[in-house]
Amino acid sequence: MKGWINMLAKHGGTPVRTKNWVPAFISSEEFDDKEREYLLNVLQKRRVFRFYKKGLDDSEAAKLEQLYRERTKTKHALAVNSGTSSLVSALVGAGIGPGDEVIVPGYTYIATAAAVLIARAVPVIVEIDDTLTMDPKAFEAAITPYTKAVIPVHMRGTPCQMDEIMSTARKHNLLVIEDVAQANGGFYKGIALGGIGDAGCFSFQQYKVVTSGEGGMVVTNNPSIHARASVYHDCAMTFWGVENSTSVESFPGENYRMSEIQAALGLAQSSRIDSVVGRLREVKQTILKGIQSVQGIQLQRIPDPEGDVSYSLVFYLPDTRTAAEFSSHLTAEGIPNGTFQNNGFADRHIYVNWDYVLAKRGASATDTPWTCASYKGNVQYSKDMCPNTLDLLGRAISISLHQSMTEEDCMDAVEAIRKVASFIL
Ligand SMILES: *Cc1c(COP(=O)(O)O)cnc(C)c1O
Repeated sequence: MKGWINMLAKHGGTPVRTKNWVPAFISSEEFDDKEREYLLNVLQKRRVFRFYKKGLDDSEAAKLEQLYRERTKTKHALAVNSGTSSLVSALVGAGIGPGDEVIVPGYTYIATAAAVLIARAVPVIVEIDDTLTMDPKAFEAAITPYTKAVIPVHMRGTPCQMDEIMSTARKHNLLVIEDVAQANGGFYKGIALGGIGDAGCFSFQQYKVVTSGEGGMVVTNNPSIHARASVYHDCAMTFWGVENSTSVESFPGENYRMSEIQAALGLAQSSRIDSVVGRLREVKQTILKGIQSVQGIQLQRIPDPEGDVSYSLVFYLPDTRTAAEFSSHLTAEGIPNGTFQNNGFADRHIYVNWDYVLAKRGASATDTPWTCASYKGNVQYSKDMCPNTLDLLGRAISISLHQSMTEEDCMDAVEAIRKVASFIL
């Protein structure tokens, strides 16, 4: 331990950390020769459209799908152009649409709720618990005769309580669509996230564990979900003559296709998931060991610690005011961190800031999923509808970890947390 010179940095003491903190991105920090080689190979092939007949059996997108089938031990995978479109494709693929309700947690990126609305169904917002993922009891309590599906979101790499969610869903005959956008590489009781529910949806946007620039993936064991999702992801799908897209009746789709360039980048990146996550786990375990005995802080509960992607360290303080104070001291000690208040910045991961959802506003002024004739339910939204979610997020402090962190970096985080705790708690 370095001496603390008896003062917090904010009060004129020496900060624990004066060197720069770690890089922001997990994914793009790994760009290397492999990415370059795979991308150049696509250029050399002069084949950037995945369904181009010539060389169809050498499609990078098809290889990426194969990799995700293997990783998640599922029978079908569909590469798409974003995480949002993977959710929309899975929902439409599962037959969800006008008149249906889909249960989502109050803490997730707004895209989860938006995808439900794009599929013309109605999102129902429920509480999270101290795992920062959907509270299984709140999920069960929100089920109505119109509920068709639930979307557990593995937020910040934390696996949801899938046993409870799956058994409640099965009891009520609901579909489970896992949102794995933030948890690529995570597991729950030995099963890769995305491979537990009826479908799993990934994102390869730059902020995620693995990036393809933009991109996404739907995995499922259900051939009908896969075929319908394929039809929805391309309005001409049945004409390309691939896989089982002709096994269902055609209907109009979008263009959510993944390009071969994205797929090549995604392939190079995805080959590194286990090594990146392995390094992240060591980093997180080192820090956890150093702070577990600190009085006054409560660590985030992780449903399956061995399956945690481990790029996020979260702990709770007794109240919001203490959390804000703790956070600003930690920053002054040289350890960047976030509270979920973020100085007034409207964090779009918290339902209170989902403006168009709370206002029930759609693209059309006359017909929305809430007002269409098929919808017989009566979902209500308000900013105070999930008090537990707001309380937990208000008391939480999060530190983003990185695979490049050294023992010294970890010890600086530990020391800063211990120092601030010893002064203010
Ligand atoms: C990023 C994200 C999405 C959307 O992914 P995009 O690729 O940005 O469309 C969906 N859900 C969650 C939880 C996310 O974090």
